[in-house]
Amino acid sequence: MQNETLSRNDAQALDKSDEIAHLIEMFEIPSGIIYLDGNSLGPLPISAKKAARDVVEKQWGEDLITSWNKHAWIDLPTIVGTKIAKLIGAKEGQVICCDSISVNLFKLLASALSLNSSKRNIVLSQQDNFPTDLYMVEGLQQFLGEQRCQLLSCDAQDIEAQLEARGHEISVLMLTHVNFRSGFIHDMQTLTKLAHEKGVLVLWDLAHSAGAVPLELDECEVDFAVGCGYKYLNGGPGAPAFVYAAEKHIPHISQPLTGWMGHANPFTFDPNYKADPGIKKFLSGTPSVISMSVLNAALDIFENVNMQQIREKSVAMTNFFQRLMAQSSSLKELKLASPETPVNRGSQLAYTHPQAYALCQALIAQGVIADFRAPDVLRFGFSPSFLSFELLFDSVEKLKVIMQTEQYKLPEFNQKQAVT
Ligand SMILES: *Cc1c(COP(=O)(O)O)cnc(C)c1O
Repeated sequence: MQNETLSRNDAQALDKSDEIAHLIEMFEIPSGIIYLDGNSLGPLPISAKKAARDVVEKQWGEDLITSWNKHAWIDLPTIVGTKIAKLIGAKEGQVICCDSISVNLFKLLASALSLNSSKRNIVLSQQDNFPTDLYMVEGLQQFLGEQRCQLLSCDAQDIEAQLEARGHEISVLMLTHVNFRSGFIHDMQTLTKLAHEKGVLVLWDLAHSAGAVPLELDECEVDFAVGCGYKYLNGGPGAPAFVYAAEKHIPHISQPLTGWMGHANPFTFDPNYKADPGIKKFLSGTPSVISMSVLNAALDIFENVNMQQIREKSVAMTNFFQRLMAQSSSLKELKLASPETPVNRGSQLAYTHPQAYALCQALIAQGVIADFRAPDVLRFGFSPSFLSFELLFDSVEKLKVIMQTEQYKLPEFNQKQAVT
C-alpha cells in the first residue's frame, strides 16, 4: 500500500480501525475547523470548560477563600503533577505543576549548575533549540558570571562530539526532546547515558513531547525535565508548566526562587526559609488556581488511553499526511523539513516554502489552522486525541486548491500579525 495513491476511502478505513477515535467527543472543536495546531495551543476539552465555570462561579464566587481547603486549591500543584507524572514515566513525588517553562528552566538550570562540580560551567545546548531555552541560559550567564555558567550551543549532529571533547567542562546538557520546528526526536536514553558517562547532568524540555510521545524519564535516568501545559496537554492558553526532578537529586537541590510556597511549612510564616524536603521545593509563589484547575480537568483526556495508543495513531497520521502531500504534483514546491521516517519525529510535520506565511493565512481562511514558524516553515501538528484521517485528507485537498489557484498571493494573506 505504501506506493499506491491514497484516497478518501483509505482515510475512512483508517478512521474505522482507530482505537482512540472516541476521544474526539471529549473536546469542543468549532464546526468547520480542522485544527492542526494542537501542538501550539491544545483545543478546549469539555471537562476543562466545566472546570473553568466551576472554579470561577462556585469555588471562587461562592466559597471564596475557604476553597483553599474546601476545594484543595493548595494541593493543585501536586495533584496535577501526579497526573502528568503518569504520562512521562515518572514515579510519584518527582513532578510538580508550576510557573512557565522559562521560569522552571531558570530554577532547574541554577539547581543543576550548583549540584554539579563547581569546576564545570558549561551548559551545552542546541543552536536551533526553542529560543527561550537558550535565553534563560544567557540570563543566568550574565547573572552568575561566565565562571559559573556559560552557554555552548552547537548543531544537533555535533552534540555527541562536544560531549566527547569537552565533557569534563560541561555541567548540564539541556535539550528539547522533540524539536519545535522540525519535530526531530532525540534519543533520550542514549544521550542521557552518554552525558552521565562524562559526569554531565541532563535537562530535557518536553514541550512537544508530553502528551504526544511515550516517555520513560525514570527508566532513562533523566536528571531534570520541564514541560508545557498548554500544548498537547490541552490545559488552555498560558496554562502552567511542570518540573520533573529525579528523586535522588531532590534532597540535594536548593533552587534559587525560594518563595513561600516552596517552604516546608508555608503557614508558619517563619522569617527564615526552610525548603520543603520534596518536589514542592520547586514552588515559588501562589499557584495560578484558575489555570491549574482547568489543566487538571483537561488531563481527563488521558485517563483511559495509554501513550502507546496515542503514539501509534500519531505515527500513522504523520505518515498518512506525508504521503498525501508527496502524491500531489501541485504541492511539490513544499519541501519536507522533518525527518523522513515517522519514528524519528514527534507528532508534527514541517514544510518549507518561500511563501509559508501567506500559505498558512490562506489555509486558516479555509478553516484549516496550522502555523508558521520563521523564516519559512509551515508547521502542521497532529494531536491524536481529536483528529481523524479524513480531516487530514480534507486539509490536504484544501491546500492543493490554494496552491493551484495561487490564492495565497492575495494581499490579505500577506499582512504579518503579532503572533504567528
Ligand atoms: C512552547 C515552548 C516553550 C514555551 O515556554 P514558556 O515559558 O511556557 O512560554 C519553551 N520551550 C519549548 C521547546 C517550547 O516548545
